[in-house]
Amino acid sequence: MAHDVVLIPGDGIGPEITSAMRRVVDASGVDIAWNVVDAGAGVMDEFGTPLPEHVLDAIRSTKVAIKGPITTPVGTGFRSVNVALRREFDLYSCVRPCLSMPGDGSRYTDIDLVIVRENTEDLYAGIEFDEGAPEVAELSQLIEASGQKTFKPDSAISVKPISVSGSRRIVEYAFEYARRCGRHKVTAVHKANIMKASDGLFLRVAREVAERYPDIEFNDKIVDATCMGLVQDPYAFDVLVLPNLYGDIVSDLAAGLVGGLGMAPGANIGRDIAIFEATHGSAPDIAGKDIANPTAEILSACMMLDHLGEGVAATRIREAVKKTLAAGESVTGDVRRAQTGSTEGCVGTQAFADAV
Ligand code: ATP
Ligand code: MG
Repeated sequence: MAHDVVLIPGDGIGPEITSAMRRVVDASGVDIAWNVVDAGAGVMDEFGTPLPEHVLDAIRSTKVAIKGPITTPVGTGFRSVNVALRREFDLYSCVRPCLSMPGDGSRYTDIDLVIVRENTEDLYAGIEFDEGAPEVAELSQLIEASGQKTFKPDSAISVKPISVSGSRRIVEYAFEYARRCGRHKVTAVHKANIMKASDGLFLRVAREVAERYPDIEFNDKIVDATCMGLVQDPYAFDVLVLPNLYGDIVSDLAAGLVGGLGMAPGANIGRDIAIFEATHGSAPDIAGKDIANPTAEILSACMMLDHLGEGVAATRIREAVKKTLAAGESVTGDVRRAQTGSTEGCVGTQAFADAV
């Protein structure tokens, strides 16, 4: 029986990389019934919103979706469509495996780590006040009354909520993932020495959860030290669990260890709905030119196939990607540049997909 999957092409390089991904998935022989629906700036005129209700309904019905990146229309009063989808379906876990592939052009080989990023709270909660807003004046009074003198009343404010329940479920997810995937260590990443309230809570909850998983090693690390450690000795890491913003930044750093943004897949997972997408954004600078690397999107599809119980097809595709990269004849410009310092002899998005 076919698997029903919602496909949102997205914008920028989205349509190119999702079409490459779809051809690769279809060639693997797995039976997917693609329900293609559009979201983003392109549907604003027709539906008055970048995220129309019928798109949400489609995802509610299939419970599985894969998407290209979607640019947030600037100045329309709408926040990020990506963030809205994560919030609508409470997709609290963002899972981003970073796995070296021979020929990925990276300085490192044999990297194998997983980023588990909290996806719903922290500075991404979107609770912000511009300078001059009445809330800022109120807060200014509160802060003054509490005796703290460091707050300037002409500040803009972004609120960073980190909850016990939100922290507990993401750390539990990281440990369950580690168990399920035969991994041995979870590292909680934070800045609890400075943000004693919010990051302090995250760390405290992480330590509590860790006690329930004696079979998995646990440690914690300050986010700045984590960045240095990842560059200096990435092999010291296994599963990393991070609050939203550190997760965003460290994901890009980790992508750089395995060949760059064009190589880094991801999944947004909730209780009963999962949406798969590459780590990178819509890369408008290279859109429409058939030069984007579809590997991240193709590997995201492999994560989706695993999720659908189609592990055999997922493995076949991963092996095909590995072989294509290792052979080195048909690789996109980003990989060629990482390998040789120039894009000479690279191939386009669709030619790479053909080779896979
Ligand atoms: P966002 O705010 O959504 O993260 P961003 O401005 O950080 O977006 P990205 O789209 O994530 O930008 O990408 C940053 C740069 O990395 C792009 O401008 C592009 O040059 C490169 N890049 C990203 N994805 C790819 C890809 N699939 N193939 C090749 N290069 C890519
Ligand atoms: Mg980015």
